[in-house]
Amino acid sequence: MRYSIATVCLSGTLETKIGAISKAGFGCIEIFENDLVTSRNSPETIATMICDAGLETIVYQPFRDFEGLAGKLRAKAFDRAERKFDLMTRLDTDLLMVCSSVHPAARPGISRIADDLHELADRAAQRNMRVAYEALGWSHVISDYRDSWEAVRQANHPALGLCLDTFHIYSRQTEIDSVANIPGEKIFLVQIADAPRLSMDPLSWSRHHRCFPGQGQLDLDQFMERLRQTGYDGPLSLEIFNDQFRAGNADSVALDGHRSLVYLNQSSSELTSSQPAELESAQEPGGVEFIEFAVGDTEYPRLSETLGALGFTLSAIHKAKHVERWTQGNVNLVFNREDGSFANRYYDLHGLSVCAYGLSVNGPATMVTRANQLGYPVSYGDPNTDTHGLPAIMGPEGAQLYFVDPNEQSPHWDREFIDNDIETRNPWIDTIDHIAVTMDHEQSLQAALLHKALFNLNPTAPLNVLDPSGLVRSQVFESTQRNVAFTINSTGARRTVASQTLEKYAGSGVNHIAFRTKNIFEIAERMQNLSIEIMDVTENYYDDLSARFDLSTDEIQRLKQLHILYDKDDFGSFFQIFTKLIYGRFCFEIVQRNGYRGYGFPNAQLRLTMQAADIDLQNV
Ligand code: MG
Ligand code: MG
Repeated sequence: MRYSIATVCLSGTLETKIGAISKAGFGCIEIFENDLVTSRNSPETIATMICDAGLETIVYQPFRDFEGLAGKLRAKAFDRAERKFDLMTRLDTDLLMVCSSVHPAARPGISRIADDLHELADRAAQRNMRVAYEALGWSHVISDYRDSWEAVRQANHPALGLCLDTFHIYSRQTEIDSVANIPGEKIFLVQIADAPRLSMDPLSWSRHHRCFPGQGQLDLDQFMERLRQTGYDGPLSLEIFNDQFRAGNADSVALDGHRSLVYLNQSSSELTSSQPAELESAQEPGGVEFIEFAVGDTEYPRLSETLGALGFTLSAIHKAKHVERWTQGNVNLVFNREDGSFANRYYDLHGLSVCAYGLSVNGPATMVTRANQLGYPVSYGDPNTDTHGLPAIMGPEGAQLYFVDPNEQSPHWDREFIDNDIETRNPWIDTIDHIAVTMDHEQSLQAALLHKALFNLNPTAPLNVLDPSGLVRSQVFESTQRNVAFTINSTGARRTVASQTLEKYAGSGVNHIAFRTKNIFEIAERMQNLSIEIMDVTENYYDDLSARFDLSTDEIQRLKQLHILYDKDDFGSFFQIFTKLIYGRFCFEIVQRNGYRGYGFPNAQLRLTMQAADIDLQNV
């Protein structure tokens, strides 16, 4: 399958965009009119640049407000079209995309529109050109793809076909089964966009919130299945209007765009088994094997004291490096203070932070291939300093994501570390429940694509959490068994906890790591006895709890005493407790799930408010 992208998706000049699109691996390009108008180069020069970059211009777009006009306005619309055909000759492209009209004088009526389109196609054909007609979701003339197909069908001209745009189709909640009935040879262009489900006016939704497949919530696999039934074999082209993309780095956005199409083609062809797979199948991570902290000598005492209070023990020391392994249950935490290591460089840049994760996957070699196919470069650590040889990719926030074979991990630890003789006892903490990461909006979209396309993690619907200083968007990516979950928080507001964390970290970072226990009351008591700083909880929170839930006075009292938060869903109850932020950076959360499947979302505003107060105190 050939992949294409519209220049409007990316930041920079037309020339920058051409370079980024070519480097990302696309074969085709859509030229968006505004990008040409603002270029200092002639259309002929642009055509040569595109050709030299190994790209083919598949369409020039958009041609607006053409159909449904009468008299002088109609004649003028055809004159404009002739000028566009002149330009297309110079650009060396043969397809003009016409989007349905929003001209106030344009009148609806399918046969009138069919007549206009027929005449336009006739004129295009005289120049060996073609026209694709798109139903714009907010046009008063034609807004439904089934009507645009009817107009094209009635016009009945070989140089006229349809442009299908998934955003316009899904945003109007039109049924999509009819797509399958359109003959593939009458579809001249397919534009792909995903989007979060938002209730807002379609024009603003379209102009600001479209995103790449895999980053939003539209059922594009379903669309692709219908499209395959038509026999369409033209390119898939991304047309994404998104504020973050246009403010972001053209190269990295173009790369994500290419990945998203490879992934979409793969995931949808798996459904229909109609095409050979382009990608190795994803190995869903079975758990978090380890989390590595970049630590300085200053922070080490407090970090180790806190984790000791939570029941972790220093279980092993690296044979050659200033690296420790702390363990409890199935959780491994690595503290890295080695000079010249990746962790050390990460520390210099970001301070105390999480610099690497190990995700256990059955068959890391398959994941290495899949990562390469998706354009995520795989490295094996620094050859001068690292002996572990584990494959890793770089996450959007710059931390390493290792692929770890669960069967190989134990010998790996033994090879690298010397065990401490520690007495074994029943752990309080069994496993890592979730990792909450704070990112800016652009990185959160990159992370969404990575979690979905590479690991097949399932996104929950994004939610907005109220921080005292603005909105934070929160979305969870979790494995089917819920053994791995990343909560991604992002914000555009400047003074939110999320933004302040971003500033502190000089980039993204972990807000909290949540450990799962079966004995939250026991751990909470121990933390209190050992004077570990526990996040404050307001009196009003517990008053509210007693109003919302069927809890006895004694139960509420116990929760309040220990600063434990509570929630409940259809599957069961949930308890959580947070430490205070450590050096204003991140904290630890302990959760106990009695069947509960969520992540304590109703308590998130309280946490952010408490953390904001702590950050403010530190800023005084
Ligand atoms: Mg479109
Ligand atoms: Mg949490």
